[in-house]
Amino acid sequence: MNAMQSREIALGELENKTWDVVIIGGGITGAGILRESVRRGLNAVLVEQEDFSWGTSSRSTKMVHGGMRYLKQGNIGLTRESVIERENLIREIPGLVEDRTFIMPYYKGNVLQRLMLQTGLVVYNLLSGKWRKNRCSLSDMAKRAPLVKSNDLKGGFLINDAVTDDSRLVLRVLHEALKQGARAINYCKAETLLKNEHATCGVRVRDTVSGNDYNIQAKLVINATGAWADTLRQQIRKKNNKHIRPLRGSHIILSAKRLPLFDNISLMHPEDGRPVITLTWEGRILMGTTDIDHQDGLSTEASISKKEVKYLLDALNFQFPEAKITEKDVISTMAGIRPVIDTGKTDPSKESRDHVIWLEDGLLTVTGGKLTTFRVIALDTLDKAQKILGNLPDLKQMQNVFDEKVDWNTNHFRHLPDNSVKRLFGRYGNRAKELIGLSSDQNLQTIPDTETLWAEIEWAATNEMVVHLDDLMLRRTRIGLLLENGGTEYLPKIRQLCQKILGWTDQTWEEEENRYLNIWKNHYSLPN
Ligand code: FAD
Repeated sequence: MNAMQSREIALGELENKTWDVVIIGGGITGAGILRESVRRGLNAVLVEQEDFSWGTSSRSTKMVHGGMRYLKQGNIGLTRESVIERENLIREIPGLVEDRTFIMPYYKGNVLQRLMLQTGLVVYNLLSGKWRKNRCSLSDMAKRAPLVKSNDLKGGFLINDAVTDDSRLVLRVLHEALKQGARAINYCKAETLLKNEHATCGVRVRDTVSGNDYNIQAKLVINATGAWADTLRQQIRKKNNKHIRPLRGSHIILSAKRLPLFDNISLMHPEDGRPVITLTWEGRILMGTTDIDHQDGLSTEASISKKEVKYLLDALNFQFPEAKITEKDVISTMAGIRPVIDTGKTDPSKESRDHVIWLEDGLLTVTGGKLTTFRVIALDTLDKAQKILGNLPDLKQMQNVFDEKVDWNTNHFRHLPDNSVKRLFGRYGNRAKELIGLSSDQNLQTIPDTETLWAEIEWAATNEMVVHLDDLMLRRTRIGLLLENGGTEYLPKIRQLCQKILGWTDQTWEEEENRYLNIWKNHYSLPN
């Protein structure tokens, strides 16, 4: 049975019963709620209009972090909550969430700011319960970030956080839920809320692959559509007057050869003093983010603008003047939309990033928040869901997110390097054994200049509900972001590996290639 056939089976089950919960939105928020629902014995199904993690959850800065900025705003509660979640995830899924140091260079002058930052760092580290070194010397800086601007440089502050692959995190959480009996269907769009005389009682969805419609009856409908949350809310009768302010955050991805960094750098943008991050990720440099009102509407995929590219390059060239980075060094770009609650602040960056939960006319909307705190958001949502579903067990008890105990002994994995084995177990849990075991020696090689194995492509095509080629290139693996021209060079080999598994004719393959390259050109490369 290929991935598409198992999708058909899940679609066939949609109308057979009344579900306890239907969750709309397959980003980290929806995935987290699905996981915590099924764990409490609820019959739960999730529908996603595009691909899993297609929205903001594949386009974040990839940090699993406490958020020094919340501390600066005096929000100790949110910082503490995030730091605890960060530590849990580092412990539970090594290889997918990895602790990393961020250096903030500091320069001559501004003693007060330096003192404040140092005090903040002490508090930040204390909140995680670990004592960590929080300064590095000039000579250390030269080793860790050789090209950093050296005029008047005094040293660097060290901030400890973690880095992940956001899209794979969503898939790992989804898999955990599916294992316990939940259902999740991609390319299945919620069109119309179903209502009885009292409240919302289900949703009409469209399978966008076949065009078929299904009525899903459910005790509770959860709207976890992030920046799109207001679209569904428009259909309800009694709603509050709050609404979403979609803010765009864009990134550029560069070759690490052009900007050698051994640690991540957090810097202040010279134009507006906003913090911007330069992160080493998957052997590349990920740089972002911008934070501006998204004026382009939500019906098309977001893209970076020329102005944002310039803003990010200006910050890079300010902090690393000798590197002389230009647009030619940009391999790819990505733009995500952050749902924040509109309070009318002039500066978008001043709007709160907390999550909100509203129960309106039987529709439970949850939006905002962070990737890092997805489990906290899920439990908070289920707490509110009790109004409709009755008491649910263990909501106050923080269990592990992942029940699966990952069990590996690096000696047994066909001479793959330890870091590769760890990476695979982080991404696939214990299924990594099967992934490695079933693969030919040839497919256990990495795709040139990446850490991704050919075997991962084959695995995803077989097991991970790939509907379109872009699912495979941009979210199951990230090679479309990491390779020049979206990895066009390797498409013939990927075709050899996957066309038969996916059950695509030659014509379908060609259509899929065109679709992927169009998406890449319009939304993941530099603007024309
Ligand atoms: P999304 O991931 O957007 O998911 C919502 C989904 O709903 C979408 O996939 C969409 O297609 C789907 N949908 C919409 N309408 C329908 C419908 N009618 N039917 C079915 N499906 C529908 N957080 C961190 O912790 N660390 C970071 O480093 C970080 N960096 C960020 C950088 C940027 C630029 C941005 C914008 C955010 C960042 N965040 C970060 C925040 C974090 O990424 C988001 O909070 C999180 O991804 C939101 O997840 P979500 O599931 O709520 O929304």
